[in-house]
Amino acid sequence: MPPPAGFVKKHVTDLAYETREELGLSPFDRLEPLALAEYLAIPVRKLSELREENPAAADYFLTRDPAAFSGVTVFHGSGRVILHNDAHSPARQASNICHELGHGLLLHDPTPAVDGSGCREWDQVMEDQAQWMAGALLIHELGLVTALRRGSEPSEIARRYGVSEDMVTWRINMTGAYRRAHPAHR
Ligand SMILES: [Zn+2]
Repeated sequence: MPPPAGFVKKHVTDLAYETREELGLSPFDRLEPLALAEYLAIPVRKLSELREENPAAADYFLTRDPAAFSGVTVFHGSGRVILHNDAHSPARQASNICHELGHGLLLHDPTPAVDGSGCREWDQVMEDQAQWMAGALLIHELGLVTALRRGSEPSEIARRYGVSEDMVTWRINMTGAYRRAHPAHR
């Protein structure tokens, strides 16, 4: 039987905060995704760098349909490389790269990217864990609660952490940060 979801979330959160500490970050500091990638020795490549090798594919995802491709981890032997779409906003790129680094931190095995009928296969459990990891890496809940207690708006918090406002709102909802910042409003 798989462990309950709450248990897994706590494990992922703990690992994310430990990783932030290893990088020397306080709960209030911004995490730079490329610094974390370097620390984990995982190379990160931009989609625009592939223009010369495959202009049709690169241009399709960079200009025609950027939403269709965020990032992917490519495995070769025992190594991995992250390829991400640098046409996305810096805030989205931070989330995309941390999502892929999350797969690495969680030691997710490579899964076949494409199934027999040519469709991309997803393991929703691993995807949810990687996304949870990205959120916890980028926004420490102690920093979030403190900022809310001081009256910071989500847009200010987003700027401080280099993330989107959507990511801040999602973290507020998922961690109960607003209620913890303003216990009287219960
Ligand atoms: Zn993923």
